[in-house]
Amino acid sequence: MVRTHIRIPFNRAYVAAGAFGYVQEALSQGCRAGNGEFADRCRTVLNERYGCKHVFFTPSCTAALEFGAILTDLQPGDEVILPSYTFSSTVNAIVLRGARPRFCDVRPETMNMDPEHAAALINSRTRMLLPIDYAGIPCDVVALTTLARENDLTLFIDAAQSIGSASAGNSCGTFGDIAAFSFHETKNVSCGEGGALIVNREDWVERAHIIQEKGTDRRRVLMGLQDKYSWVDVGSSFLLSEVSAAILLAQLECLDETTALRSQVTEAYRALYSPFEQRGCLSTPHPGPDVELNHHAFFVIFNTAENRARFLGDLRGYGVSPYIGYIPLHSSVMGRSYGYEPNDLPITQSVSERIVRLPFYPDLARDGLDYCMESMSKVLEKIYGR
Ligand SMILES: *Cc1c(COP(=O)(O)O)cnc(C)c1O
Repeated sequence: MVRTHIRIPFNRAYVAAGAFGYVQEALSQGCRAGNGEFADRCRTVLNERYGCKHVFFTPSCTAALEFGAILTDLQPGDEVILPSYTFSSTVNAIVLRGARPRFCDVRPETMNMDPEHAAALINSRTRMLLPIDYAGIPCDVVALTTLARENDLTLFIDAAQSIGSASAGNSCGTFGDIAAFSFHETKNVSCGEGGALIVNREDWVERAHIIQEKGTDRRRVLMGLQDKYSWVDVGSSFLLSEVSAAILLAQLECLDETTALRSQVTEAYRALYSPFEQRGCLSTPHPGPDVELNHHAFFVIFNTAENRARFLGDLRGYGVSPYIGYIPLHSSVMGRSYGYEPNDLPITQSVSERIVRLPFYPDLARDGLDYCMESMSKVLEKIYGR
């Protein structure tokens, strides 16, 4: 085994230099609860740079998903079509409303929901499509928007990984009826824990304010429209603290810089892995032609589970830490309790046993990428030959 003192983690959170000053500013202001000045300033960036019109900052993407599930009025017994290849938060949001998940297979080029399989799962109880933008690659918005419209379904996009990505010139977050962003420390823009619900339907905006404010019409008091507020609907505390919003603002302001660093990592990985892909040893992400990427992640799908195991084992010896990705929801303990068997989604099941997500963070481009590439190159040559 190779011995080394170098360690390449899977992720390392980026610290925006501007965050220190903003946090100080937030702390010295009177208002530290949600929806203050820093939330406004973050909202302006999302409005102006990314075209996200109605933005509700939340404590996490998980909370934004739960917020969205309330807003869409999901009822017990409603069916929601979502990929099995996603995080537990995506499915929990709808299960908490009593809705039933119908797990959909993916396309291996993007690891995103396969619209053809989604279409085959639609029946009279189907209420919603809930795709994700895996690795920051937008889901097939054209096909899914059409499918939703033709079948009168809500389109809710879990855009946890895709802030800054775009499809046909439009930013992720602006597609569908609603979308959820994550600002967790593992995402491109982060404030530790945080998220946002983007509401793209004008007729849902008023109610979103009420749900975000614990089911009250407090906003009407703040706007001077009435002098008392009270309980008018269901809701929860779906607000992001101003201190977190201060960190978020600094991160949003350096998104171009961190994306440029991230794109160097993508380029390096592409150069290393493409020759092996051409030889049929493995495959890499292939977003569509009019997609602009935020370079959130890079995945490699090995030809066999054995080769993935060798890759992971040997790289560990070099101190490099890739990540195996999701255990599919349909074959998890909870998924099985809904009657699913692993082979119900053959593509998801097979790919999940062969996929790896490579170490990926902005500072890797500045420090460690050469070592990371050298280690991977040696391991790949050992498995597949030159
Ligand atoms: C990260 C992630 C979440 C959860 O985000 P949090 O902000 O940690 O709650 C949900 N869905 C997907 C697809 C994610 O990648």
